[in-house]
Amino acid sequence: MKLVLLGAPGAGKGTQAALLKKEIGLDHISTGDLFRHNLKNSTPLGLEAKKYMDAGQLVPDEIVMNMVSEKLADAENTEGFMLDGFPRTVAQAEFLDSKINLDGVVLFNISDEEIVTRLMDRAVCRSCGSVTQFSSHEKCPDCGGELYRRDDDNEQTIRSRLKVFHEQTEPLIDFYRTKNLLLEVQATGKPEEIFARVLSLLNHDKN
Ligand code: AMP
Repeated sequence: MKLVLLGAPGAGKGTQAALLKKEIGLDHISTGDLFRHNLKNSTPLGLEAKKYMDAGQLVPDEIVMNMVSEKLADAENTEGFMLDGFPRTVAQAEFLDSKINLDGVVLFNISDEEIVTRLMDRAVCRSCGSVTQFSSHEKCPDCGGELYRRDDDNEQTIRSRLKVFHEQTEPLIDFYRTKNLLLEVQATGKPEEIFARVLSLLNHDKN
């Protein structure tokens, strides 16, 4: 199964990808994680991407497509995969279209205000990468690791990222609707409730 997870930053794509990986073994390819990994290792790619990430802007298409090409080639040999945070522009979607045939695009629907509240509370584990909330945990509930706030999870950058989403990524909704690939899920509520909706959309209901 080859899926795209589509939605605004903070819509829960990463959280649902982690659950899907556990449940049906799909590989999780997150362009944001790939950039953060490069940044942690101070690679030229990571340092270049940081300029855009800190401003809440998109990294230029060419850089993203170069990075993703390699991953897509590797992923072709797996059971299936989910792309999280890619594509984010029509040019990226057309590029992806030229490389693979998708089985579906899961769209996570949620309001901007709910996203701002969520992201201001988002905590990431430094050890295992799990995502949780500062309001409910002091340490990572999965491994006990230290929690940190992503540099781009501040209100000003969150608002820029939302603006970029509406202007540059939202056109992909029609792009995929026209191709009959769009599967819409309401992304409010607890992660496990959203997960049940996702599984049902994918005809993968538990029991
Ligand atoms: P994310 O973790 O998906 O929220 O991505 C964090 C940041 O990485 C974004 O705000 C962008 O600056 C950059 N980024 C991630 N994926 C893409 C993409 N497909 N196209 C352009 N920039 C991206």
